Amino acid sequence: MPYRAPVSEFAFLMDHVVGMDRVAATEKFAEATPDTVQAVLTEAGKMAEEVLAPLNRTGDLQPARLENGVVRTSPGFADGYRAIAEGGYVAISADPEYGGLGLPMSVTTAVNEMIASACLSLQLNPLMTQGQIEALENHASDEIKELYLPKLVSGEWCGTMNLTEPQAGSDVGALRSRAEPKGDGTYAVSGQKIYISWGDNDFTENVVHLVLARLPDGGPGTKGISLFLVPRNLPNADGSAGVGNSLKVVSLEHKLGLHGSPTAVMQYDGATGWLVGEPHQGMAAMFTMMNNARLGVGVQGVGIAEAAYQHALNYALERKQGRVPTDEGFGTILDHADVRRMLTGMKAEVFAARALTLDLAVSIDLAHATGDADMTARAAFLTPICKAYGTDTGIAVADMGIQVHGGMGFVEETGAAQYLRDVRVTAIYEGTNGIQAMDLVGRKMMDGGAAAKALLAEIAATASASDIGGALTDAVAALGEATDMLTGMEMNDRFAGSVPYLRAFALALGGHYHLKAAMAEPGGVRAKLAESFLLRQLPELHSLLAQVRLGAEDLYALRDDDFAA
Ligand SMILES: Cc1cc2nc3c(=O)[nH]c(=O)nc-3n(C[C@H](O)[C@H](O)[C@H](O)COP(=O)(O)OP(=O)(O)OC[C@H]3O[C@@H](n4cnc5c(N)ncnc54)[C@H](O)[C@@H]3O)c2cc1C
Repeated sequence: MPYRAPVSEFAFLMDHVVGMDRVAATEKFAEATPDTVQAVLTEAGKMAEEVLAPLNRTGDLQPARLENGVVRTSPGFADGYRAIAEGGYVAISADPEYGGLGLPMSVTTAVNEMIASACLSLQLNPLMTQGQIEALENHASDEIKELYLPKLVSGEWCGTMNLTEPQAGSDVGALRSRAEPKGDGTYAVSGQKIYISWGDNDFTENVVHLVLARLPDGGPGTKGISLFLVPRNLPNADGSAGVGNSLKVVSLEHKLGLHGSPTAVMQYDGATGWLVGEPHQGMAAMFTMMNNARLGVGVQGVGIAEAAYQHALNYALERKQGRVPTDEGFGTILDHADVRRMLTGMKAEVFAARALTLDLAVSIDLAHATGDADMTARAAFLTPICKAYGTDTGIAVADMGIQVHGGMGFVEETGAAQYLRDVRVTAIYEGTNGIQAMDLVGRKMMDGGAAAKALLAEIAATASASDIGGALTDAVAALGEATDMLTGMEMNDRFAGSVPYLRAFALALGGHYHLKAAMAEPGGVRAKLAESFLLRQLPELHSLLAQVRLGAEDLYALRDDDFAA
């Protein structure tokens, strides 16, 4: 079945669940009226359906490859990229001073989801550029901004992020790449970076790498790291892409999925780079890009979940198997209780995860537009939840999609398996979901749980306003107790319960979004879906919190030797 962009679902969520009207009411985003947003989403949806979705299978079957040091992308990807760039979708939220549309992140979020559903491998390219644009807008010198931002915003050039090295994965502070001042305001950047998404391509004039490296006086750990802009081609005086820089793609990885996205080992040999931000403050600048990407990667998960759901539903509406239990059914496997359980659960989780991405995007927009500290804290707290729950949902729904297909899900020709292979990495890159959960219970709770409690109060208010909110009220009470307990625990005890705590929080948020939808549409499809979520998904929260209360002790009951015994 061809992908259908859920444009009306975005409109419903924006109007009734995440309060997009608050964004349009700010001076900064006054142009984001419902009509404008609807027009942008409709056009983007059409492009995703007609231009990008047909490329998804091609990218899987004909991966990007390295030929004599040159990356050759999958057939059709250049045209797909051009459609994204010419439509202005790389830079919906970029500053209009540099050619961006200046629309809210919430609009970018909806557009990114549709592009990710259609072709995740290709979507990763503009996602990286979006993060780079935000990092440069916030941290680069005026000269860099004037030269690079218009090219990145238009999509003529694209951006990458270079953190990972063989010995420095989750532990970025272990990186060894170096940068030596050349005495003319530039730096010679050297080192090897691995797993660099879209490290090169054959359809943009230039590729701009943001590279973390250490200056000669940079101390150990994350505090000694600086950020450098290192273009593949050094710009000429007129701003065009000039001669090649001293860097190359050494190889491309062979991966489980996401075949259309070239994942590169990059070698920098004294490549000319420019410092972005202050010396030794590279992590702060890179965090702008990473936070942007964490929302973006959560959205990738939702995009694949939506596509996998649509695919599985279509199959279930066609496949006949077994005796149909009711006279009035479809006469297909969708009549079977277990298949309905799977598809209802998939639909309910997609709704919750999508609402979470838009809620976070709205918080980011309001924080930018108003500078409100509480909104900034709300966005910071939601970011790791969104990244992990969005991607976990992508994986769980794609997995369930295979199950709905039966054997046809396991053979490649239906495409159901590709969704799972492609989305699997989203729980790993941009900070593994384990690292996200540790961020949530560590850094994001340094306020003693204040941001968590503020969100729980919002959820409690929704629960008490609804006739069917009893289970959510109980969930909030349990989560509040667990939050108090966590903030009093030793850090390793917190970490032991961090993944279950993050998921429990996401489920409570899911209940909150579902109830808001149910109250906006009493008796409708969304109200039925909300009841199902509360009955079938939300109760998992209590078993998750039981794990949170355990702390770490039992996890160390097996001694190191015992694992191999
Ligand atoms: C397809 C792909 C694309 C990528 N794109 C990019 C890119 O564009 N740019 C870039 O810089 N990087 C990129 N990465 C790298 C990615 O961000 C890392 O793989 C990721 O951060 C994890 O690092 P690692 O692979 O070294 O795993 P490790 O850090 O070795 O982690 C292994 C396991 O240990 C856990 N772990 C590690 N440390 C801790 C800890 N302190 N506490 C608890 N658990 C811990 C992890 O959660 C994980 O389960 C990409 C990776 C892939 C596979």
